[in-house]
Amino acid sequence: MAAQCLYCPQCHKKYSTHLRLFDTLYDFSKAAPENCPACGSARELHITLDFQLGVGDGDFKVVHAFLPDKLESWLGEDEEEVTLYPFLVVLQGAGESKQFCWMPYWHVVGKEARFGQHALCLEHSQFESLAAQAQQKMLVPA
Ligand SMILES: [Zn+2]
Repeated sequence: MAAQCLYCPQCHKKYSTHLRLFDTLYDFSKAAPENCPACGSARELHITLDFQLGVGDGDFKVVHAFLPDKLESWLGEDEEEVTLYPFLVVLQGAGESKQFCWMPYWHVVGKEARFGQHALCLEHSQFESLAAQAQQKMLVPA
């Protein structure tokens, strides 16, 4: 699906993380990764996606990761609570200025996070266009 690591731009060293992608993105949405243990510089979160966007080698820097302020939950099978985590992740290709909006999502049931298939990945300008149109036409939530 996707591999992730923390990258130190000073040491040019990659640190693998043993967290699940869900936890990595969730943590990143709350706070920046811990600094490099070797040199103390801020580290970047990098993700290698198994789909190509026509730029680079599939290695992307995670610029931002967002979750909605309010998450939606409901009762699923066996009356277990299901919570949807729809991420908006801004990706940038290595050495590229182009940014992409990747929208992976998980259904979390108990301790299990199930990855939703067919996450959307749009070029930033396309995402902006959609968001701007929606903002104009949609009712402002009360
Ligand atoms: Zn370092």
